[in-house]
Amino acid sequence: MDFGLSYEEKMILQTVREFTDKEVRPLLPEVQKAEIRGERFPDRATVKALQGKARTAGLWGLQTPEEYGGANLTSLLNALIAMELGRSLVRSTSAVAPTIFSSLGPTNRSSATWCRPSKVNATRASPCRNRTPAQTPPTFRHAPSRTAVTGSSMARRPGSPMRTRRTTPSSSPLPTPVKRAKGGISAFLVDRDMGWTERPIALMSSWEASDMWFDSVRVPECNVLGTVGDGFGLAMQWIGRGRINIPARAVGQAQGLLQLGLDYARQRKAFGQPIAEYQAIQWMLADTAIEIEQVKWATLHAAWVADQGQDPRHYASIAKISGAQMVFRVADRMLQVHGGMGYTREIPIERILREVRVYRIFEGTDEIQKRTIARNLLRDYVRVGD
Ligand SMILES: Cc1cc2nc3c(=O)[nH]c(=O)nc-3n(C[C@H](O)[C@H](O)[C@H](O)COP(=O)(O)OP(=O)(O)OC[C@H]3O[C@@H](n4cnc5c(N)ncnc54)[C@H](O)[C@@H]3O)c2cc1C
Repeated sequence: MDFGLSYEEKMILQTVREFTDKEVRPLLPEVQKAEIRGERFPDRATVKALQGKARTAGLWGLQTPEEYGGANLTSLLNALIAMELGRSLVRSTSAVAPTIFSSLGPTNRSSATWCRPSKVNATRASPCRNRTPAQTPPTFRHAPSRTAVTGSSMARRPGSPMRTRRTTPSSSPLPTPVKRAKGGISAFLVDRDMGWTERPIALMSSWEASDMWFDSVRVPECNVLGTVGDGFGLAMQWIGRGRINIPARAVGQAQGLLQLGLDYARQRKAFGQPIAEYQAIQWMLADTAIEIEQVKWATLHAAWVADQGQDPRHYASIAKISGAQMVFRVADRMLQVHGGMGYTREIPIERILREVRVYRIFEGTDEIQKRTIARNLLRDYVRVGD
């Protein structure tokens, strides 16, 4: 295993670090003020402005293939960038690492169009896979030139959702449940003007999600991503990346929280001395550092496996569940270090605590990650000691 970065990669990471220090971290006080007012920040306009600055700094199309003007960075470097951005405690990944299109690859005409960084800038998209029990099951009718979509789904608020749905038999070589292998799944982009509707859902934090309804929405064939029937592979690619990106962001956020804890423990005095002198506080800081380090290496390992062209899902699941649980524990612990102050909206901790709780739910719940890990072991997809 070689996590060594090339000179060029180190330069990119350095640029991200400078960008974060100069453009992202200074937004933190404004985020907290907005939080107290019950508003969302960074708002769309600020994110757009950040995206413009990121583009000027050369931080654009980072996952986009080179032939479409992107940088096509490795998973390892993307994970390190997510850690860097996460440390700012400002939600900013969409500023430099937006959208699904970049991860899909140039599989057909529509991907080639949508992959272009200029297009990426103008478009927000969200993968749209799941439905809640109250929602209606989707139906799809595929004809040579277009697909009719009916159904509903919950997803992050998009400009255009990417839907993955069963259409024709799949040729995916991945170990998949029989019904997927038999049925085949297609991915397609459903533009807003194609007629779907949404209802924003109130959430526990500033994440945005919507219920989306598709009623016989007509999707032209040029909006199919990849080829008809091969959407499952694309979805797995997307999920695979997400399952590395989430723990990477979690590591960065946990590092940012630990820094807050360290600063506060040094300056806050109780019973005549800084609370940092108390072993109870030191143990919370130490436990946090230990757990961050564990998840950091699990995440980088999963990214490295992906970069070797191997299937990273087993290691990505391990990293994802570890990161999701770790950052929530860390937020709770750093809140404790801050005492009553930690419970206020004056500082970011309670906001982050609410924000990161969803890491245990989306891109596969904890239970689904464990199911995947156990299945891989029991079916010998991965052997103990590999
Ligand atoms: C803020 C937010 C943003 C989201 N964004 C997106 C998005 O962009 N795109 C998208 O497609 N989806 C999105 N989702 C949906 C999200 O991916 C799902 O909520 C998640 O996958 C869980 O599915 P579910 O809600 O249907 O839970 P359910 O599947 O109903 O699960 C309920 C409980 O049962 C457990 N469970 C279910 N099946 C099993 C099993 N086989 N074995 C053991 N336990 C099981 C679950 O772990 C959970 O504890 C988002 C959700 C939220 C909250």
